[in-house]
Amino acid sequence: MQIRIADIKDNGLSLDLVEGVESFPVLQELQGKGECLFTQPVTVNLRAFVVSGMVEISGHVATAAEIACSRCLKPAEVAVDSRFDLTYTRELPEVEDEGEDGSEITAEDMGLILFDGDEIDLLDAIQEQVVLALPFNPLCSRNCRGLCPQCGADLNEQACSCGPQDYNIKFSALKNFKVDK
Ligand SMILES: [Zn+2]
Ligand SMILES: [Zn+2]
Repeated sequence: MQIRIADIKDNGLSLDLVEGVESFPVLQELQGKGECLFTQPVTVNLRAFVVSGMVEISGHVATAAEIACSRCLKPAEVAVDSRFDLTYTRELPEVEDEGEDGSEITAEDMGLILFDGDEIDLLDAIQEQVVLALPFNPLCSRNCRGLCPQCGADLNEQACSCGPQDYNIKFSALKNFKVDK
């Protein structure tokens, strides 16, 4: 998943990649922890340009995963589809001022990624884009009714006999339930 800087011509370089999740250590780790199951390889389409000595990469990353529904905990199908713009540089541009607290301004502060040598390795950036694009509270369906916080019944499948009592207690019980998982 490297780009050779020499391959980026004046009119840019286009790259289309399909990589299995096993190529991405961070995604594998998520999967190993059972937090999600990637059901598609990671597809990347990007264009790279050299602009004033920096390498600008804009692209698009897509995959699909199953993540536990945040209400009922059944697997929810999630499409990951995200655009990204990254700027790589060998050295930071000169800056007059220091950061607000007097500390040095880092590449990250400037939205830049440092690289060495003749190639850029995109692996870290791509897996980060996938992680950022995973939904925080996935739902198996917009109308998922979730689990009864008192008896644990899946309310999508059956009504339970717990009355609609104190909503706040139910809500905190549900929160605890999720933390334990
Ligand atoms: Zn659900
Ligand atoms: Zn119930």
